[in-house]
Amino acid sequence: MSFEYAPAPESRSVVTIESSYGLFIDGDFVDPASGAYFKTINPATEEVLAEISEANDVDVDRAVTAARRAYERTWSKLSGRERAKYLFRIARLIQERSRELAVLETLDNGKPIREARDVDLPLVAAHFFYYAGWADKLDHAGLGPNPRALGVAAQVIPWNFPLLMLSWKIAPALAAGNTVVLKPAETTSLTALWFADICRQADLPAGVVNIVTGGGETGRALVEHGDVNKIAFTGSTQVGRAIAAAAAGTSKKLTLELGGKAANIIFDDAPIDQAIEGIVSGIFFNQGHVCCAGSRLLVQENVHDEVLAALKQRLTTLRLGDPMDKNTDIGAINSSEQLGRITELANAGDSEGAIRWSPACDLPDRGFWYPPTVFTGVTQAHRIAREEIFGPVLSVLTFRTPAEAVEKANNTPYGLSAGIWTEKGSRILQMAQQLRAGVVWANTFNRFDPTSPFGGYKESGYGREGGRPGLLAYLTTGAER
Ligand code: NAD
Repeated sequence: MSFEYAPAPESRSVVTIESSYGLFIDGDFVDPASGAYFKTINPATEEVLAEISEANDVDVDRAVTAARRAYERTWSKLSGRERAKYLFRIARLIQERSRELAVLETLDNGKPIREARDVDLPLVAAHFFYYAGWADKLDHAGLGPNPRALGVAAQVIPWNFPLLMLSWKIAPALAAGNTVVLKPAETTSLTALWFADICRQADLPAGVVNIVTGGGETGRALVEHGDVNKIAFTGSTQVGRAIAAAAAGTSKKLTLELGGKAANIIFDDAPIDQAIEGIVSGIFFNQGHVCCAGSRLLVQENVHDEVLAALKQRLTTLRLGDPMDKNTDIGAINSSEQLGRITELANAGDSEGAIRWSPACDLPDRGFWYPPTVFTGVTQAHRIAREEIFGPVLSVLTFRTPAEAVEKANNTPYGLSAGIWTEKGSRILQMAQQLRAGVVWANTFNRFDPTSPFGGYKESGYGREGGRPGLLAYLTTGAER
């Protein structure tokens, strides 16, 4: 039975959104040379929130030039200890302004306020604190002799965790002594622009952080600019491939964080109630807009019926609706394009013969919504078992032996994450060694920490973000030079 809850809406009065935003270049908000703007909307209501500048090649060049100047004149001249002071200051400002930032993220992205407030924002601040701590210790971090910054970093991020992806990119880059030009995703620019204001509040020298907004063309102009030394990209495998091709033959250092199709593996000795919570957070957290989502559930055959019954029962208690309501578990899909992609792939599940189930839930009239969906009777050949859906859709497969679980889990072009649920520690270690995934969670799922490296194998990309290895992506050492 699920309890009735009275609405508990978060107030949006903590943020004042202007009607239009410029680009953040060389410490100031400036009008785009392109003269072009696009609208950003609240995906839960389709209300227009603001007009955002669409940077063209000229704008991108201005931003890269500002970043180069700041690198040469100020940032590369500062000691690690001085850089750390700025990063600590930014981290504290993020904490101070976290309510405002969480509200903004929810309005622009559609994710539940509870998640923006309790997961995204604490992790964003933690990333800045963590990398602030490294800035003066690079020589002693075991990264190689005489580590040095690369120069100007071009950074392109997706819309699923806008501010968190920004922190994964900007914090290690600045700690290592680089300056940056970052392009947020076109549907979620607002928190990056607020972050620009935080940089000013922190008195960060002009040009160290530049934010250029726009779509794919702006991203392409940035990563293909001749004066960037490093590209960090998080997004789809398709775009990652194009960027890798464009960067080939140049001296630009490249890290790619791409898609995933993770297996969440439930053995018959797993604590079923806890595993159900892990399955739910694995695929329904952030509406399934998670690159490392546990989108393929592999259940040992003898507990399949028990697990599915408990899972369906749990899903009937999830509340879908207004993301600004603190009771909401499942918010809006980020855009009508993404809703279209989810719908198309889920429909392919129907036509290929899988069995669809969703709890009874009313979808709001306006905005973009998709109910939590579970497909059973899925085979390895089905598109919903192979392709990344990036939405609240779970594909359930079964296995009999650990060897079969490994075989099925690894049978994917991706390799970002995996989950193992069992009471046996020895089985966890044995399975983890055989799974080709950058992150393997045991008896938990979708847990993140700035100290822990994150990244993929195969078509999930290369390079690691987070932890000490995350610094290496922004440094060159004496051994390499
Ligand atoms: P996307 O690749 O379409 O867009 C990502 C970003 O790249 C956006 O800012 C976009 O404007 C920009 N872009 C588009 N075309 C470009 C080009 N030719 N050159 C440079 N930049 C370009 O992906 P999306 O649909 O916004 O994001 C979802 C994808 O991101 C999923 O596949 C998901 O798995 C992946 N993702 C991966 C991670 C990870 O850490 N591995 C994290 C989050 C999301």
